[in-house]
Amino acid sequence: MYFGSVRFFKHVIVCVTILLIVIPCVVCVTLAVRLGETEDENRELKTEVSEYRQQGYRSEYSAEELFTLYKDSLQDKDGFLKLAREYDEEAFRDAAGTEAAVPAVKNTEPASETLTAIALDPADFEDEDDDTAEDDKPVTGARPAYEALYPELYANMPEELVYNADMDYVYLTFDDGPSKYTDSILEYLRVYGLKATFFVIPDGSEECAAKLRKIADEGHTIGIHTATHDYTKIYASVEAYLEDFKIAYDRVFDATGIRCKLFRFPGGSINDFNTEIRDDLIAEMNRRGFVYFDWNVDSGDALGATWTEMYNTVLKQTAAANRAVILMHDYNGGWNTVLVLEDIIKALISDKRGYKLDKLTEYVKPVQF
Ligand SMILES: [Zn+2]
Repeated sequence: MYFGSVRFFKHVIVCVTILLIVIPCVVCVTLAVRLGETEDENRELKTEVSEYRQQGYRSEYSAEELFTLYKDSLQDKDGFLKLAREYDEEAFRDAAGTEAAVPAVKNTEPASETLTAIALDPADFEDEDDDTAEDDKPVTGARPAYEALYPELYANMPEELVYNADMDYVYLTFDDGPSKYTDSILEYLRVYGLKATFFVIPDGSEECAAKLRKIADEGHTIGIHTATHDYTKIYASVEAYLEDFKIAYDRVFDATGIRCKLFRFPGGSINDFNTEIRDDLIAEMNRRGFVYFDWNVDSGDALGATWTEMYNTVLKQTAAANRAVILMHDYNGGWNTVLVLEDIIKALISDKRGYKLDKLTEYVKPVQF
């Protein structure tokens, strides 16, 4: 009798042992193989997403649109979309990371406010205390010698000015021009009927003067940037800065007849090169009535940002600002700026928030670090 015999129980024990060991082993091996395949697939998908982003003008397209564009060559739609979205989130996180370097300007002021204009007559400063002078300077009674320099170098500002209410306004600004790309930038602005602001580096040549006239004739704002853009030189002293500024100011005037009121410090008002003279310099430029604009959106173009980085950063930082002053560059190394400009313009003007793109004037409350 086999059932109930010793042999039967031996066989039962052997069978149970085999089931307990072999089945889990088989399951484990199968899962491991499957997991490996999934990882490989994920890796391939990640590469695909990255490649398609590179080819397909990236975040201009949503993940779904991207899949539609490339669906013929893709099998795993869900996987692709998931990774494409992660890719976008990463890009936005990167963009947010760079934002930390650019202090956001809180726009908590009322819609409009009246400010007393800075007095412009140099004679006024002989006997009067200047509100913008630094408190921590030794009180000697003597005015700094540089106040006497260039007695005609004053901005002709209104006696009293009321800032425009400009919530959701976006100001495109281009530094360092004119360049070989100026015409292209002007063309995009013309096509979309937009006005922008150029903080220029006039070199005194006739070619440069012609481009400055074109910028002015097309209704954009010209502001002074610098004549040399040599940080070490211009920030050596207030006198050195004024000398450089005056050269640029005169060149713009000679080319266009415009006496600029706005300017942008090379490197922004707070940079590593002007720490020694910063407070005096800002006070002196304020005293002369000139208004400087920093920025609260940095396209990163001068730092070598890619098309995608520029596009994502500009849109994200603009969305975070109540009103945005966008830093871009019009310089010979700036082909990326020209490539991305139209797409940025299109995205901004079609945004549901209803951004209004305009040029800077003295009636725009300055964005300053
Ligand atoms: Zn610059």
